[in-house]
Amino acid sequence: MKVLVTGGSGFIASHCLKTLLARNHTVVTTVRSAEKGEKILAAYPESSKGQLSYVVVPDIAQEHAFDQAIISEPPFDAILHTASPFHFNFQDPKELLDPAINGTKGILCAIKEKAPSVKRVVITSSFAAIVNPDGHPDVYSEDSWNTVTYEEGIEDRGKTYRASKALAERAAWSFMEEEKPGFSLATICPPYVFGPPIHVPESQKALNTSNAYFAMLMHGGWKEKLPPTGTWLWVDVRDIALAHVRAMEVPEAAGKRFFTTAGHFDMKEVAEIAQKRFPEYADKLPTELTSDKPSALYGCDNSRSKEILGLEYLPLESSVVDTIKFLQSHQI
Ligand code: NDP
Repeated sequence: MKVLVTGGSGFIASHCLKTLLARNHTVVTTVRSAEKGEKILAAYPESSKGQLSYVVVPDIAQEHAFDQAIISEPPFDAILHTASPFHFNFQDPKELLDPAINGTKGILCAIKEKAPSVKRVVITSSFAAIVNPDGHPDVYSEDSWNTVTYEEGIEDRGKTYRASKALAERAAWSFMEEEKPGFSLATICPPYVFGPPIHVPESQKALNTSNAYFAMLMHGGWKEKLPPTGTWLWVDVRDIALAHVRAMEVPEAAGKRFFTTAGHFDMKEVAEIAQKRFPEYADKLPTELTSDKPSALYGCDNSRSKEILGLEYLPLESSVVDTIKFLQSHQI
């Protein structure tokens, strides 16, 4: 298939590129600048054979941002829309909300109007679009929705990221309902995504948000106290990349949301793995490791992702070990 992947410079997108190329798809990725595009091409040998190329889309929040990128010859068969800001360093909440919501609506409109060859769109949503901190259900599944509003996302910075993801995903499903385009949609909802990056970040500061915990650990940031786990669910980036690609390839994925998690974890388990496998970090970790996982914790149902996408989730130890090894080898 010929596939457009948005945000190729991103942590998750970089693994989607790798998985797509390994499965012989031809890929074009959007990036914010030619400089970023050239770096990506250099990271994948397949680009020299023409299997990977890039197109510049400077800001997905802008109207008609994707109108040119979506037109290709031969035309695209499928789109993976992963680009969306995931950080907490924003000044104005709209820095998160606008690219997430406008970017999602914008790409769907552009596909409908300008790329009739596209048959499947896969959007990277998040557990942030599922979790409901004001009233956890007994078990989270694809039926669960975060009810946060746009106004709450503007007023409460603690809710902004969750609002960006929940409202973007809702907008996508509403678009499908109202516009009835000629393509089908699948969404992928991961919690914390860990694992070794493909693109080497220039500095610790440039590391993606979810892996920043590991850099903190290696630099002694966990010494006094473990960081709060937040939501006690995780998944490896290699499984998430496969989830996107399978959601694009598998006919039965059409019209479905996928809650893609390997299961529960807490920072104590991460610290224990680090202690066991990297004894050189013993002096970076507190001597008494305590869990912040509540005894009565919500459950999670990932059965749809196993049944339809065929996912078999990597264990936490592999993810932690491979991530730390990556950071060590690049001195991040
Ligand atoms: P990254 O920060 O590594 O990637 C984000 C990508 O989005 C980058 O390519 C970035 O471009 C691009 N982007 C952000 N804002 C804009 C904009 N205004 N215009 C154009 N491009 C933009 O994050 P992840 O790979 O971790 O996240 C990717 C997706 O996965 C996001 O949708 C995120 O919400 C979701 N997700 C991530 C989780 C995680 O734990 N990592 C968990 C659940 C969901 P640039 O590099 O140029 O800034």
